[in-house]
Amino acid sequence: MADKITAAADGTLSVPDEPIIPFIEGDGTGVDIWPAAKLVLDAAAAKDGKNVAWKEVLAGEKAFNATGEWLPDATTEAFQEYLIGIKGPLTTPVGGGIRSLNVALRQILDLYVCLRPVRWFQGVPSPVKKPEAVDMVIFRENTEDIYAGIEYAGGTEQNAKLLAFLEENMPAEFGKIRFGTQAKVTAWEAELERIGAPKRDLGVDVGLGIKPVSRLGTERLVHSAIAYAIQHDRKSVTLVHKGNIMKFTEGAFRDWGYQTAVDFYGAVELDGGPWHVIPEGKPGAGIIIKDVIADAFLQQIMTRADEYDVVATLNLNGDYISDALAAEVGGIGIAPGANINYVTGHGIFEATHGTAPKYAGQDKVNPGSLLLSGVLMYEHIGWTEAAADIVAALERTIADKIVTYDFARMLPGATEVKCSEFAKAIVERL
Ligand code: NAP
Repeated sequence: MADKITAAADGTLSVPDEPIIPFIEGDGTGVDIWPAAKLVLDAAAAKDGKNVAWKEVLAGEKAFNATGEWLPDATTEAFQEYLIGIKGPLTTPVGGGIRSLNVALRQILDLYVCLRPVRWFQGVPSPVKKPEAVDMVIFRENTEDIYAGIEYAGGTEQNAKLLAFLEENMPAEFGKIRFGTQAKVTAWEAELERIGAPKRDLGVDVGLGIKPVSRLGTERLVHSAIAYAIQHDRKSVTLVHKGNIMKFTEGAFRDWGYQTAVDFYGAVELDGGPWHVIPEGKPGAGIIIKDVIADAFLQQIMTRADEYDVVATLNLNGDYISDALAAEVGGIGIAPGANINYVTGHGIFEATHGTAPKYAGQDKVNPGSLLLSGVLMYEHIGWTEAAADIVAALERTIADKIVTYDFARMLPGATEVKCSEFAKAIVERL
């Protein structure tokens, strides 16, 4: 009988054989990729004698057309109640401040980890020489950083208040951020006159953003990353940051990250630090906790990606890093993602690309991103055999050069199939 997934006090999930799982079909190409992903997810579960009782909930354009709301309360309540859900891409309405359907869901459920595993599948066309060296799992902090949206447009009343506060209370630092210091204005105005540009009032028009990075946010993220590394027999956890420049936000992330490894996992300094290792006799013995500056990291994932494994990073870095890595292994059509709160057990698994509106309804695009997000979801609820079966079948399908348009255009000798045909080909190989 269909039943709810529940969580114990420590976040451990209890999963019935027929769990009720809410899904958002998604806008645009959601109508293509969701049925394709579902076909494969259902077939793999059935092989193990299991079944998902899918429960549709609405968000995005489909919700707006049906209810007049972009994110109906019933949808967030369903995710609250059923703990785990999956979603296709959602249209971001232009204007009106709704950049935030995805962000809203993350905030309401406090989904503090954005999980992005990135690996190469045999046969997938890649722009780098050794894509097989990429096998990383990104833990991106999902609620803080400059991404928190605490921003004040230049020239607004709130911005002026904040500038005035800074000027009054922190005059030394304020001098550093203030663009409108008289000497600079005078020099720039002289330059404008020299090149014959029109005069304008430059004033002190400076946009301001606040970058909160908390000990709590860091600790719970890094704690999850190390726990994942232990569970999945990974070799290292790398803290990626720009602490050399942003000392009290990104630098603090690094320091608190190491401290988390010490406090929760008994990690000790390796050769005088700063790297740490989990010592013999502890769960995860031998796992290295290290750190690297974000720009060096972005170079090294091109030159020696095999040195990195689990990666824990801040919100903005994580955004850049996951897309750069996705490109290395063949792009956005197959990059899965999840947003998770390991404390409450809530998780929403999602395609990482957008709605690709120009392809909507054409049964054309790659369902791989949503399907692999479903695989992550199966792993998360303990259906690891079904998850592994899907990955193996997907690998066989790509190895047979049966692919959607995005891979076909880069893969000589490929057979290009539709989205639904790709799903059927995977099911045949399960
Ligand atoms: P997009 O939908 O991700 O599409 C950009 C390009 O990525 C497509 O033109 C296509 O490349 C490729 N692509 C996307 N999905 C693919 C798939 N399943 N298989 C193969 N290739 C795929 O980005 P966008 O056009 O910037 O955004 C469109 C809408 O989606 C916007 O409303 C945006 O706000 C929204 N969005 C939503 C989410 C989300 O819900 N999580 C995320 C991002 C964007 P080619 O043109 O090269 O074929």
